[in-house]
Amino acid sequence: MTRAALALLLTVAVAAPAAQAAQAAPHSDATDVPESGFDLTSVELSQSKDAKSMTIEMVTAKDWKVADLSPATGRQICVLFYPAKGITRVCGVPSGDADQPLKLRWSRIDAKGHPFGSKDVANAVVTHPGGRTLAATFTVNAAFLKPGRLRWRAFSGWVDTQPKCAPGSANQCKDFVPDNGTVPLTLKAPDPGLPIGCTAAGATERRSGPAGQKKIALTFDDGPGDITEQLLNLLDQYHAHATFFMVGQNVAGRAALLQRELKEGHMLANHSWNHANLSGGGATGNLAQTNAAIRSATGFTPCLFRPPYGATSNALRSDVASLHMNSILWSVDPNDWQTPGTQAIIDRVLGGARPGSIVLSHDAGGPRGQTLEAYRTIIPTLIQRGYKLVTVTELLGLKLKYKQPV
Ligand code: ZN
Repeated sequence: MTRAALALLLTVAVAAPAAQAAQAAPHSDATDVPESGFDLTSVELSQSKDAKSMTIEMVTAKDWKVADLSPATGRQICVLFYPAKGITRVCGVPSGDADQPLKLRWSRIDAKGHPFGSKDVANAVVTHPGGRTLAATFTVNAAFLKPGRLRWRAFSGWVDTQPKCAPGSANQCKDFVPDNGTVPLTLKAPDPGLPIGCTAAGATERRSGPAGQKKIALTFDDGPGDITEQLLNLLDQYHAHATFFMVGQNVAGRAALLQRELKEGHMLANHSWNHANLSGGGATGNLAQTNAAIRSATGFTPCLFRPPYGATSNALRSDVASLHMNSILWSVDPNDWQTPGTQAIIDRVLGGARPGSIVLSHDAGGPRGQTLEAYRTIIPTLIQRGYKLVTVTELLGLKLKYKQPV
């Protein structure tokens, strides 16, 4: 390996963290064949802030025309992608459309290095600014690229009158960027937006999560209510997440509060429509009505139900399972609804908290000032003890659903 090649590889390695930040610096390239204006002098790949699209900018040594890229001239300007499996490439090619004269052509590369299975990259915007640049912006999906690590290498190819690159010569000229090796790039996954639901799994009824991790799920029942907003402020202060088992008939007029809960990463869950004892079964209508109220307020359909009064039964479990939901009881109960005093609530929660605990409390259904005050101490104390405060879905490893699959 020449010293120049080594220096180039080092440059490539150093560029990796920048690529991970999706703010790749351009890779400049010395002029390898000064006689040809189609030599690449710089290539830059970047991902948009929302991670949905990519931009490639390739600059050549001298001016060229769109028509020069026709297959007849032997000129090509492409980026090769090396994901975990298979090799693909995208090339700028003439479109034949006067309004948008360039398009982006995607191909797989076979074992001999030949392209096959070519397709146009849908909705790619390909331009030729300043005479020497090919600029292409396209959605990551449309170029069949997946979020994660990949490597790339750009090239231009041409034939000209030099002996080495003469028309018909088997030895068509190519300039690679980088000249040796490939450049690592980590494509970020697009933000999936807010979840639209969750997927129940495992045993229908659960009282706690796995004890192997220092995670605890705080849950608040009977809301939304008077202290819900202050509780959200408190949770937000500590970047803690909770699960709100709400009573369907309390949802009316509080859509903004529910939307805030969802946006701040909390879990919206079902505590029946009217806080009736449903252990007699026949509860699917009651539960479905609550899910519908939460869905119409937020677009999110719950997969968690908590029986009012903790009154569970085989009949109720079977109703819950038929709605593809989990029934969530608890392992720590400070009886905060009896207003035993702030200190008693603190002592009972902190005394009972273990890895995997599901803690029951209430953000409505009576005066909840003691509960709110208690959590001003409970939350920072649990965090100080090394616990992560998570939603029940996270504690149980349940998947969230999004509009666009992630
Ligand atoms: Zn309740």
